[in-house]
Amino acid sequence: MSEAGKTFICPICLELSYKPVVQGCGHMFCFWCVHRSMNTSTVSHCPVCQKSYVHIPRISPQLHHLLQLVNPSEYQSRTQEISAEEHDQNIYSPEIPPNSSSLGRKAAINCKICKKMLYKPVAMNCGHLMCQTCAASGPTNSCRFCGVYHPDAFPQVCVELEQYMEREFPKDYKLRSEEVKSSDKAKMQMKSWRSQPADDPEEIGVTQNPIHQNVGCDGCGMMPILGRRFHCLDCPESCGYDLCQTCQDRGNSLPGRFNQRHGPRHRMEERSLRNPWIFVWAW
Ligand SMILES: [Zn+2]
Ligand SMILES: [Zn+2]
Ligand SMILES: [Zn+2]
Ligand SMILES: [Zn+2]
Ligand SMILES: [Zn+2]
Ligand SMILES: [Zn+2]
Repeated sequence: MSEAGKTFICPICLELSYKPVVQGCGHMFCFWCVHRSMNTSTVSHCPVCQKSYVHIPRISPQLHHLLQLVNPSEYQSRTQEISAEEHDQNIYSPEIPPNSSSLGRKAAINCKICKKMLYKPVAMNCGHLMCQTCAASGPTNSCRFCGVYHPDAFPQVCVELEQYMEREFPKDYKLRSEEVKSSDKAKMQMKSWRSQPADDPEEIGVTQNPIHQNVGCDGCGMMPILGRRFHCLDCPESCGYDLCQTCQDRGNSLPGRFNQRHGPRHRMEERSLRNPWIFVWAW
């Protein structure tokens, strides 16, 4: 593996992160590694920093494209290997549309909001990347770029990406650090983001019954679903399509977390714990 490839190593499989997901704590993993390491009946903990969480963010398309540029041959072989596994197991990670621009690595690390080089990059639950200050000056608990609900506290900086930029583009990154001034106002705004439900395991046990074990929300990525659960009657995929109450109320019609082709006309039905007529494994 090349030097550059060593940057984005998944701490779980120790290979180049494939379809990278950045957790709220800022640590980056492969899509499948996060799913397989999650606790399906209660809160999970980041394998690196032990921070508790119940929501898995979506894959970051921007990081997916960056990793392809950073280490094309390794990423290509990871793609082949994982596509074969997915085919065998008949469960699929979301498809990421190919990058329409051919501008290279530097364009791949621009902020969705200010269009300049990311400075202190954070990833939203929807997978979009932006500068910490750009995210903080948007609305609370939602992505400033696409508006999608962000169920967690303000995300931590993705240190691995920051280190990559500092190393590969030291001058540009330094310029950005001089340009971006973190204000007290921005700090206050970051603090006002709330984790929903609170990611404290004790609190979840007390306030968030029932717990739908082995079922995750295809909107916000909550796993297991705490509180009320809604199931799609029209998605044909074996993994099913479910939403938590918040996502159901918000009218989520995003595609599923496993590439289910859910649509806005699909019928959703509430499922109680006493009536688990389908056993949904893994999600
Ligand atoms: Zn991995
Ligand atoms: Zn972590
Ligand atoms: Zn920005
Ligand atoms: Zn977004
Ligand atoms: Zn949800
Ligand atoms: Zn559906």
